[in-house]
Amino acid sequence: MDFTLSDEQRQLQQLARDFTRKEIIPIAAEYDQKEELPWQVVEKAFEVGLLNVAIPEHAGGLGLGMLDECLIGEEIGYGCMGIYTVLMASELGLTPILVGGTEEQQKRFCQPMTEKAGLYAFALSEPNNGSDAAAMHTMAVLDGDEWVLNGTKMWISNGGMAEWTVVFATTDRQGGHRATVALVVPKDAPGFTYNKIKHKMGQRASLTSELVFENVRVPKENQLGGLGDGFKIAMKTLDKTRIPVAAGSVGLARRAMEESIKYAKERAAFGKPIAEFQAIQFKLAEMAMGIETGRLMYQKAAWLVDQHQPHGFESAIAKAYCSEMAFDAANEAIQVHGGYGYVGEYPVEKLLRDVKLNQIYEGTNEIQRVVISRNLLK
Ligand SMILES: Cc1cc2nc3c(=O)[nH]c(=O)nc-3n(C[C@H](O)[C@H](O)[C@H](O)COP(=O)(O)OP(=O)(O)OC[C@H]3O[C@@H](n4cnc5c(N)ncnc54)[C@H](O)[C@@H]3O)c2cc1C
Repeated sequence: MDFTLSDEQRQLQQLARDFTRKEIIPIAAEYDQKEELPWQVVEKAFEVGLLNVAIPEHAGGLGLGMLDECLIGEEIGYGCMGIYTVLMASELGLTPILVGGTEEQQKRFCQPMTEKAGLYAFALSEPNNGSDAAAMHTMAVLDGDEWVLNGTKMWISNGGMAEWTVVFATTDRQGGHRATVALVVPKDAPGFTYNKIKHKMGQRASLTSELVFENVRVPKENQLGGLGDGFKIAMKTLDKTRIPVAAGSVGLARRAMEESIKYAKERAAFGKPIAEFQAIQFKLAEMAMGIETGRLMYQKAAWLVDQHQPHGFESAIAKAYCSEMAFDAANEAIQVHGGYGYVGEYPVEKLLRDVKLNQIYEGTNEIQRVVISRNLLK
């Protein structure tokens, strides 16, 4: 078993690490406070080749694999989980096009995104159903060769700002997942509006929106897969994109550990640096154990995706494990910082606020356990 990254992967990792230190860390707190998406970071990520990295080569993109995406995700997650969500929610919105789109559709929806900075979005959740996604209410009715879309989507990352939004809708509310479709909706479609959701606990540098569709006409050629494929495409997408969430969580945990090490060496109590107390040392050791274990888990899941092997079980474990491990690491990092950890002067307070979302989005960790146990019992 070879754990060595290729030269290209090490270069990619270094590129993402340098980008994080130069472009993300210096502005992360400011954009968190302003609750604003830093568009200049999106543009710079595009310029250096860190945006929409999964666009296939036949559509003019880099065609990077899941492990590559995760290596980027870990570095960006180290810098700011909110900015991570901006960039990675774009890969999330792109993935259904790769999973369910024809080559022609992939070219149509991807090629323009290789020419200028732009985002994708993935719109599955609704005000009344998140985990129970198949119970969606957003309706799609076929009128000639166009779908007419009506309904509301909730909590959509990059929502309203994305050039393309993949919207999941039903053609029959009694029909369950067999009546679902996936439609690619352009930003400027008449009848498509959005409302920004404010005052989030964390990840405030990411844009989260409610999307409203009022008689939005979507050409049939923008439908991914066939009638009834919508839910399947959404689930196949999430089986993959949960893995970068795990990687981002590992990055955040690494930040929590490094900030704790730094502080523990600087802060003195009872006449010596607190790093000399075993209680503090053990917290650092726990963090390191979680980070190493989590990285192995996300890398295995990503490797399975890249080998075109089944990966749903492993991706659910990676997502649930890493997000919980990162939450614990951020929580303990505040403890190591004492009272100073509880205020915004040090980055650890933001880490804890940001990481909570990792246990909720892309399927809550309860839903991950449903997936994991279903695999065990089937
Ligand atoms: C900031 C943010 C960004 C987001 N970005 C996106 C996005 O880009 N696209 C998108 O489509 N969605 C997005 N979401 C939505 C997110 O995926 C949902 O919030 C999540 O899936 C949970 O759905 P819910 O909020 O409706 O909670 P519910 O489904 O109502 O769940 C409430 C609680 O019940 C538990 N529960 C529900 N069903 C079960 C069950 N069967 N077994 C055990 N426990 C269960 C849940 O785990 C949770 O603890 C985002 C959410 C947030 C907050």
